[in-house]
Amino acid sequence: MMCKTKIGTLICGAIVAMSAGLSASVMANQADNAEKPNILFVLADDLGYNDVGFNGSTDIKTPNLDTLAKDGVTFDAAYVAHPFCGPSRAAIMTGRYPHKIGAQFNLPEDNSNVGVSADEPFIAQTMKNAGYFTGAMGKWHLGEAPEFHPNKHGFDEFYGFLGGGHNYFPAEFEKAYADRVAQGLTNINMYLTPLEHNGKEVRETEYITDGLSREAVSFVDKAAAKKQPFFLYLAYNAPHVPLQAKEDDLAVFSNIKDKKRRTYAAMVYAVDRGVGRIVEQLKKNGQFDNTLIVFMSDNGGKMGQGSNNFPLKEGKGSVQEGGFRVPMLFHWPEHLKAGSRFPHPVLALDLYPTFAEIGGATLPAGKKLDGKDIWTGLQAGNAPHKDEFIYVLRHRDGFSDAAARRNQYKAVKNHNQKWKLFNIADDISENKDVSAAHPAILRDMVSSMESWSWNNAQPKWFHNSSEGARWRLKAMPRFDETFEVGDGSKR
Ligand code: CA
Repeated sequence: MMCKTKIGTLICGAIVAMSAGLSASVMANQADNAEKPNILFVLADDLGYNDVGFNGSTDIKTPNLDTLAKDGVTFDAAYVAHPFCGPSRAAIMTGRYPHKIGAQFNLPEDNSNVGVSADEPFIAQTMKNAGYFTGAMGKWHLGEAPEFHPNKHGFDEFYGFLGGGHNYFPAEFEKAYADRVAQGLTNINMYLTPLEHNGKEVRETEYITDGLSREAVSFVDKAAAKKQPFFLYLAYNAPHVPLQAKEDDLAVFSNIKDKKRRTYAAMVYAVDRGVGRIVEQLKKNGQFDNTLIVFMSDNGGKMGQGSNNFPLKEGKGSVQEGGFRVPMLFHWPEHLKAGSRFPHPVLALDLYPTFAEIGGATLPAGKKLDGKDIWTGLQAGNAPHKDEFIYVLRHRDGFSDAAARRNQYKAVKNHNQKWKLFNIADDISENKDVSAAHPAILRDMVSSMESWSWNNAQPKWFHNSSEGARWRLKAMPRFDETFEVGDGSKR
């Protein structure tokens, strides 16, 4: 029985259901689910803009990702909402700028009781409500206490670790952890703690990247057995420090002399190898063509730790492009033009509404979103954020770095210097300040960002107590100073 159209499928489903003795409504529901695409969202950690083959890397090999890029869409200007891990992930999961929900700092490092609350329904919950089997694998970094656990945020399955990173070799972290337990310590670094599956401690035996790939393969198999569409958030901690790679992967990059770069390259290669394994399994399950695959990084590559953000300026933590413009691809050949590059800005904040649209999900009542569904614009090749602002704001010790992009212009205040203006479309490396030629444009952009900041929430936590103490001591956020253009004119 051929059931190509949605309506046709429902009719076919109803006929089969009645013949099988199942209720028509149950079967129609299953048929409806069968129409929905799977979404595989792979997030790398601190991966530089130029550290994948599809973005021009000449020394790091990423053959599996490059194949997806060749058959998919590569984004020249994909922006995350913050140049650090925790706030960036909070934005992806909630669809909100982290500053709007008090998540603008990384969480405290160990045994903290704070996290991103379910008051902002996560994308996983929205997809789950739409009939999706949902999974998160890898790094969480959105709260360690039980109420912030992935299983409380709409993820049916979680395998990984709750902190902001992890050591990669079980033989090493198991021993270090056991030593600390033997000393009677309780506040043990999260990089060393055992991994978990749905809240229960597990004994991982593989190199972490391989372990997460294995679990992702297992998850897509489970989804296939359930005949349910899946939403999988695969959050590799690679190539985030510590720089630790397998000997076999290091051997592939013996031509790279710099040890950090060689190790980093091998870590990225392991991620690519994992993506290849999952793709292979999707093909075996007959689900490859019905899966939207998205790959991106949570922020820019960390400078001095093996990454390469060329041609972007600076890296992780910066409001210059290297901090928050990241490599990204979409792969779904039946729906997206193969081999194309999308030049217009898109946001990690767009993923929530876009995934919801693709999955036929209903947004939770009253849900606020700071991005938008880009699916139509993406298919048509139109700029989804034409004439709109993209913001990035990083608080430092006593002052804030800030930037706003609109169309070809980007206004930047970095390292407590005066505001500068770049034509980012022509000057991707942010080398030529054109503020003197366009003072009105700069003032308008800074003024708009100031308005945006008015309803920012106070931080709900700080990375550590001294950071919080300094915030109060220095009367942060000091937005009056942040949004002073400093050219002698008033805004
Ligand atoms: Ca990161």
